[in-house]
Amino acid sequence: MDRYDVAIVGGGPAGAAAAYEAASRGAEAVVLEKGVPRADRDGLGPDSTDAAGMLDYWIEIMGIDPDELPDDVILQELSGTEFEGPTESLRLERTGMEADYPHFGYTFQRARMDDWLIERAEDAGAEYRVEASVTGVDSDLTGDPEHTVSLRNGEEIQADRLVLSDGPQRQVTNRVLDPLLPDGQDITDYVGTTKANHIAYQEHREFPEDAIEKDMLRFWWGAMPGETAYPWVFPNDGTVARVGLTMPIGLDIDDFPNQEEYLLLDADDDSIPSGSEYIERLLERAYPEYDLEDFPLVEDRGKRDGTETYAISSTRPIDSPTGAGIAIAGGAMGTTSAFHEGGYHVAVRSGAIAGELAATRRLEAYNEAWKEAIGDEILRNVSFADIVADYEPADWDRAFSTARKLMQREGSLIGFSPRAGFSGLKLFAQYWWTKRKFRDGGYVQLHEDEFEV
Ligand SMILES: Cc1cc2nc3c(=O)[nH]c(=O)nc-3n(C[C@H](O)[C@H](O)[C@H](O)COP(=O)(O)OP(=O)(O)OC[C@H]3O[C@@H](n4cnc5c(N)ncnc54)[C@H](O)[C@@H]3O)c2cc1C
Repeated sequence: MDRYDVAIVGGGPAGAAAAYEAASRGAEAVVLEKGVPRADRDGLGPDSTDAAGMLDYWIEIMGIDPDELPDDVILQELSGTEFEGPTESLRLERTGMEADYPHFGYTFQRARMDDWLIERAEDAGAEYRVEASVTGVDSDLTGDPEHTVSLRNGEEIQADRLVLSDGPQRQVTNRVLDPLLPDGQDITDYVGTTKANHIAYQEHREFPEDAIEKDMLRFWWGAMPGETAYPWVFPNDGTVARVGLTMPIGLDIDDFPNQEEYLLLDADDDSIPSGSEYIERLLERAYPEYDLEDFPLVEDRGKRDGTETYAISSTRPIDSPTGAGIAIAGGAMGTTSAFHEGGYHVAVRSGAIAGELAATRRLEAYNEAWKEAIGDEILRNVSFADIVADYEPADWDRAFSTARKLMQREGSLIGFSPRAGFSGLKLFAQYWWTKRKFRDGGYVQLHEDEFEV
């Protein structure tokens, strides 16, 4: 049986960053990636959920200088983003956060970025095994932790430390954590696969030249029912853009008697439309001067036939049972925010910290360390998601109108203050109180001391 210092389950950004940091510190590290076929990659590789938007200050959190990236990774430098409400809109040309990157952000070719992260890890000495689907982990915690990782092909490997980076579906993570919880508790009560799950669907479409601002992201809020349900357009290269959406799974349209208020619902819909139906409606309704045929599918991109569907879970993060020699990183620990789909930067950063601490046998510092590095970002995401959880279409209009006034007066959203008038004060107070509720790690839904290790 092969033996390693650090075994890493999942070769996405979190796993690849963990492998790079671990191998750079001289540890024997292996990345186990089940391998997913994609139209935009030769051979199997990481899942590469075609994410692909990076904001200026996320680059700092991620800790990878854009100049280090191969030329074909960054597709488009961004100048800003446009948020559309039912009648109001808001155009942001600055994130308002301190960052060295001179643009609002960039969009990137996700599969190439993931592949580069893996190559970087291999160059540092990590072993990358693809078609290595992990089916289970047997952890012996009677002395120094020892993990036996089983693969679908029947092989087993042994490792002293385990980094779980199998993404937001957590198929391995949940199985590993469950036995570490007290009797009667279930890991899915925290990082649920049913109650907090979303589906993300997207299509690669060619846009008419005049219909796309190539350097602007576009989001529509209050256009679809459900918490954290929204469509977007992300420009890629040329006039190709990804048109996608996120929505909770299992919504009942009868829970939304105000159907006519949503841009993408029809009054006579008797069920929630499918992802592809929503996208067609978005293109027809948000670009009324064009026909649907003006936005052809680009079929040789994405996962298959120009489309992609993913599960994405909208949860708050969990601590890792570091006493068991286990660190959970990236989407698996709940860092991906369905609120704005952001997660690549926190996946890379948490993975890097996990890899470094696993290699240097200091895993006990992990939960402190990731909070120090990405806690502020998580706090912002969790707080905003909490504030808008029950927003109806009209609430988005109110928020955008207030935010626009704040921007005009204050020049930025992030630094807004009570000087911004009554509605600004209300928004400020709500954000302040919500952030207070989750401060000091209050955004963590399962703490290290709740594991029985
Ligand atoms: C539609 C969509 C759009 C998004 N847009 C953005 C964006 O614009 N910007 C941004 O920053 N983030 C975005 N995100 C979030 C981002 O994709 C995630 O935060 C990021 O992928 C998390 O990285 P990860 O390494 O933790 O997990 P993943 O990228 O999910 O990687 C996990 C890996 O584990 C592998 N794996 C799973 N199970 C096993 C197993 N049993 N054995 C072996 N391997 C296994 C998978 O194949 C996969 O490669 C988006 C997500 C979605 C779904």
